[in-house]
Amino acid sequence: MATRDELDYEVIVIGAGVAGIYQIKRLTDLGVNATVLESAADLGGTWYHNRYPGARFDSESYTYGYSFSRELLDEWHWKERFSSQPENLRYLNFVADKFDLRRHMQFNCRVQAMHYDDNTHSWRLVLDDGRELRCRFVIMALGLLSAPTPPRFDGMESFKGRSFHTYHWPHEPLDLSAKKVAIIGTGATAIQIIAEIADKVGDLTVFQRRPNWAAPLNNSTISDAEMAAIRARYDDIFATCARTPGGFEHEPDRRGFYDVPREERVALWDRLYDEPGFGIWLQNFAEIFTDEAANAEISEYIAGRIRERVKDPQVAEKLIPKDHGFGVQRVPLETHYYEAYNRDNVHLVDISETPITRITETGLSTSAEDFDFDVIVYATGFDAITGAYDRIGIHGTDGRTLREQWHDGPATFLGMFVHGFPNMLMPAGPQSGSASTNYPRGIETGVNWCTEFLQHVRAEGATRFEPTAEAEQRWTEHVTKMYSTMLMRKAKSWFTGYNSNVPGHEHGKVRYFVYNGGTPKYVKRITGVRDEGYAGITFAGTPIPEGSARKRTAA
Ligand code: NAP
Repeated sequence: MATRDELDYEVIVIGAGVAGIYQIKRLTDLGVNATVLESAADLGGTWYHNRYPGARFDSESYTYGYSFSRELLDEWHWKERFSSQPENLRYLNFVADKFDLRRHMQFNCRVQAMHYDDNTHSWRLVLDDGRELRCRFVIMALGLLSAPTPPRFDGMESFKGRSFHTYHWPHEPLDLSAKKVAIIGTGATAIQIIAEIADKVGDLTVFQRRPNWAAPLNNSTISDAEMAAIRARYDDIFATCARTPGGFEHEPDRRGFYDVPREERVALWDRLYDEPGFGIWLQNFAEIFTDEAANAEISEYIAGRIRERVKDPQVAEKLIPKDHGFGVQRVPLETHYYEAYNRDNVHLVDISETPITRITETGLSTSAEDFDFDVIVYATGFDAITGAYDRIGIHGTDGRTLREQWHDGPATFLGMFVHGFPNMLMPAGPQSGSASTNYPRGIETGVNWCTEFLQHVRAEGATRFEPTAEAEQRWTEHVTKMYSTMLMRKAKSWFTGYNSNVPGHEHGKVRYFVYNGGTPKYVKRITGVRDEGYAGITFAGTPIPEGSARKRTAA
């Protein structure tokens, strides 16, 4: 049995994004010998990579930032209600520097494979720089949307202009003025880019397969006085986020949809549409997520707002989704997105009617027309939630990879543990509370829980933990069951595991990725497991320092 001294680290955290930064802070505070491995050249995760124009929070900035340090809350001034990527990256660097975390991070090292060794209760990590590192525990902080998926069109390599996925938007300034630009995709990312660059490019052509329901962000700046008021309110802000299903300040309307007269419902929607953030989605009636007729009514309301904003009625109709209702996919928030289509230099091509047939040297061809472009932007989304895990060869107790085990969809215990993969923790894993909530709020919950769990493991002198197969099955059934009442189970979205560019992830088979019970229920569940002495998890190990073997199962 390897002792702690024979290991390179006790804990390796993979990923230096929002989760990895907080996780290493907690571990180093406890004096744990830990490091963070990050494949990128620097920290920041999502906010390091997504440098496309218009990239910004859809969470109110002051609900997105970390809550763990009063000093940090007092020192940082959010400049906008929904802060933009450069500022968000500055914030994460500020946090890392303030707490001197960078010295615990290693950049430009991608973990290619992980092998669990049950003889030593340790993981061996194989890095792409040729190194191998051994540690007792691995914490996966990989991000939910960090495995970009470009499309698979013929001829993509032949294009002579610039082309890239939005995740790989160039770091150096890219002058788009007077350029002919194509954007493929109309998800949340494309919607931000289109709105931002419409008046800055020569010509912009949007290739849309399916429209999304989008609603106004209603962003604004935050003055010194406003920031002071926010600081005074931070305790309340985080308490509200902990109380609401989505982890935002937006509280659902608890009245019954049908108990409120139609004029009152419309008056509510009129108000919410003009308010900042996700109010129109999350301060709405619960029935819009579960009841077809209620959903149809809010959808028709939003369609009306789109028709008011887009001058050409034919273009407006194309921008209104017909295959799903409002809110059953995550709602992109926008700033003058619909108005972009009123400009002469912005064109919409419906590729559900005339599909893209190939990328050419000078642009692309659809079944109807050839187009010339200087730049092609693939805003085609991500192999969400499990994609980043699938890209690492993670070998568990029987040598089988996690990718194989999750072939038909993930199964976890609490979204944090996987049977067959001992000593691996996922503070924001598939089926955890993070994806369906204001992400950092979910992350803090997950990181805090995992850190407390590791403290328990260390205090017990255990060197191995693993969830039971039964506990994992129970949790996965619980997560699956929650989808059954939600209209979103039918949606072609990453919440159901849909991605047309990933073989096996096409529409038709739901992957139960997301815990839909909301923050309070999730926290209650994971707290309950802790209070029951970590029921559902087996522990084993060599007590330290005695060195004698010991095995026990928690109650
Ligand atoms: P996405 O929502 O998955 O959208 C991808 C788009 O590309 C869809 O319109 C899709 O059409 C289209 N597409 C994919 N493959 C295609 C192909 N081969 N041919 C033609 N069209 C294709 O991805 P995303 O926009 O990057 O957003 C993903 C998530 O990131 C969002 O849901 C959100 O959670 C997060 N996000 C957040 C913010 C923020 O404000 N904080 C901003 C951006 C993104 P189909 O629908 O027909 O497949």
